[in-house]
Amino acid sequence: METVITIDGPAGSGKSTISSLLAKKIGYLYLDTGAMYRAVALAAKRKKIHLNDGKALGELCNSLDLHFITDQDPPRLFLNEEDISAAIRSPEMDMASSKVSAVSEVRKAMTGLQRKIAKGMTLVAEGRDMGTVVFPDAKHKFYLTASLEIRTERRYKERLGRGETVHMAVVESELKERDHQDETRPIAPLRPAEDAKIIDTTEMTPEQVIGTILCQLDLG
Ligand code: C5P
Repeated sequence: METVITIDGPAGSGKSTISSLLAKKIGYLYLDTGAMYRAVALAAKRKKIHLNDGKALGELCNSLDLHFITDQDPPRLFLNEEDISAAIRSPEMDMASSKVSAVSEVRKAMTGLQRKIAKGMTLVAEGRDMGTVVFPDAKHKFYLTASLEIRTERRYKERLGRGETVHMAVVESELKERDHQDETRPIAPLRPAEDAKIIDTTEMTPEQVIGTILCQLDLG
């Protein structure tokens, strides 16, 4: 039986930072499910598969050898023998991952893989549908939010840090578009689980968010 803490929320809400810090602090595995959708998008692009071709994407997902190497910090994501951790972090993959993630065949394959990875583990699972669909029985569920301004600022700084030349207004409109796509898709849309604790991180430091989460946990 696995023990899962779910952390969902929109882009830039602080999910990755918090999930990875929390996992390290309590000795849980960190599962970045967004990276998995990004990997599907990258593989589809390389194979020139249309991002809404369900049949081809389903076949692609079933043929992918996708695995995390977790003894490094942050964990690395491999597609076959290739470390794709950097290749999946581009503005193009931001949007493409959101497109493929709306396809039912892709969601089915990734949900199955995520549950398989979780089997028998203790983990912090980060994404959009962790608490609602993938791990509905998780004992601890969190949903992070933040104002659009602060989410834009965080993503802007992250992209500058990667050496990109980017404008704040472009980051904001891409963020809005991606969240809209994620919130309005018919399958597993982005939304808090009914039993999730919602944390607005707008004016909080990562340490404060971790502190708030730790207060809720009863790790036995
Ligand atoms: O979290 P990240 O920004 O890396 O996720 C990339 C995209 O993958 C999201 O915009 C969303 O469309 C999709 N995703 C999803 N379900 C998850 C995790 C990510 O649909 N559990």
